[in-house]
Amino acid sequence: MSVLAADSVNLLAALRAVLAAKGIAGPEEIAGQIRSTDEASPAQGARMVAKAWTDPAFRALMLEDGTRAAESLGIPMRGLPPLGVLEDRPEAHHLVVCTLCSCYPRAVLGYPPFWYKSASYRARAVRDPRGLLLEWGTVLPAGVKLTVVDSTADYRWMVLPLRPAATAGWSEAKLAAIVREGDMIGVTIPLAS
Ligand code: FE
Repeated sequence: MSVLAADSVNLLAALRAVLAAKGIAGPEEIAGQIRSTDEASPAQGARMVAKAWTDPAFRALMLEDGTRAAESLGIPMRGLPPLGVLEDRPEAHHLVVCTLCSCYPRAVLGYPPFWYKSASYRARAVRDPRGLLLEWGTVLPAGVKLTVVDSTADYRWMVLPLRPAATAGWSEAKLAAIVREGDMIGVTIPLAS
């Protein structure tokens, strides 16, 4: 082990010891936090979307308070900025961007994809959102209003997309399987395939 690596290990151990001694965070809490960070992925957000598509009460909760809706499905949200949910409608589509950096609802979508952090996405989502969507193959019908929403350090957003028409009678699990990361950012739209 290099001197630097050994120093890092000692520093980490010392920090953990201080956190535990001061009653701020014990080993189990830290392990739990690492576990929930590792488990965070778009599959969590997809579970929420599929449930909202099939359960009107959950849908109402999700639109009112995304954080509480996530927690009700066992997704750890403690200590994170509030989660807001943007409801797509046949006449209204939403696109999420962090114009400043890469703010992203990691608990429900995992780590942001590389393009989300790129300067070109952040700029073009504002300057030419319809052109950007076209490059993703997303064609909004004429008359659909497109709203671009900025995720920030204080408030993180995800999109509740429209349920594809050809999915009547599908189970929640089957629905969740078609919801992609981009569908919850708004660059793409869920497809029934
Ligand atoms: Fe950011």
